[in-house]
Amino acid sequence: MKKIGFIGLGIMGASMAGHLIDAGYKLSVYNRTKSKADELLARGATWCDTPAECAKDQDVVITMVGYPQDVEAIYFGENGIIDSLHEGEYIIDMTTSSPILAEQLYDAAIKRGAHSLDAPVTGGDAGARDATLTILVGGDEADYEKMKPLFSVIGKNIVYEGKAGAGQKTKACNQIAIAGTLAGVCEAFAYAKASGLEIQNVYDAISKGAASSFQMTGVVRKGLEGDFNPGFMLKHFIKDMHIGDDTGKRYGIDMPVLKQVMREAEMLEADGNGTKGTQVMLKYYDSSF
Ligand code: NAP
Repeated sequence: MKKIGFIGLGIMGASMAGHLIDAGYKLSVYNRTKSKADELLARGATWCDTPAECAKDQDVVITMVGYPQDVEAIYFGENGIIDSLHEGEYIIDMTTSSPILAEQLYDAAIKRGAHSLDAPVTGGDAGARDATLTILVGGDEADYEKMKPLFSVIGKNIVYEGKAGAGQKTKACNQIAIAGTLAGVCEAFAYAKASGLEIQNVYDAISKGAASSFQMTGVVRKGLEGDFNPGFMLKHFIKDMHIGDDTGKRYGIDMPVLKQVMREAEMLEADGNGTKGTQVMLKYYDSSF
């Protein structure tokens, strides 16, 4: 299992692909914007002109694109991955995408005698850079076991969650939990500001107590310092909340906190904040942050 086709070289994918090169895998790469592959090509990766070409004759194909519609396009669209899969090949979609689409990918792979895992990640851009991601895996357990050495090159906490789609469902749980936490943290700092407190003093106190969280120390902290560059883009967070909300309806659960945060994030996106980091949620509560 040494030859990998890697598609999607953005904030997350470029770092992940780099670790695989460092670990000795032979990488073929494809991305919508070719220039994002330059650094990897300089390190020995091979450029492919289509997803199909990138998937041809590989042991494994890893995809890390943006939205479920991007996943659909690169797997099922023109020059898509599915048509060039050979028997025994593995596809691993690590995009945060829909559990239903993960099930469809699994069925399509099986029809070609191939294997499919959904393996979205948590841990942010820093986790990708430091190879410390948490990886949430759905699919056949034997396939998960076979791919564990590869996963351990890019992640630290690698968990088998169940059959196809279970990785994406677990990721939805993660994003649902983040929605309320992120909004709560932003609201707290807006309260601090409104009530005349010194923001830094409040941060120094509550970031070390029971209210602390990664959303506070790893995400909102950056916004408090005036840094709204992404880590994790607001537009992708909105996509994730929609996946949770849409599939939640199918599973018969209503999530009012998620819906509220989704609305807030969409208002910020409409004001041109979609490609900022999720710490921009601070501005929903107080635009002067
Ligand atoms: P990103 O920087 O936008 O990267 C996505 C990459 O996929 C881009 O380079 C994009 O091409 C490429 N792409 C999209 N559609 C494509 C297509 N049809 N064909 C070829 N390439 C295509 O986003 P990211 O932050 O790396 O996130 C990637 C995924 O991981 C998302 O689903 C996100 O929700 C998830 N995620 C992100 C984080 C985080 O902290 N950033 C953490 C966990 C999970 P272009 O270069 O042309 O745009």
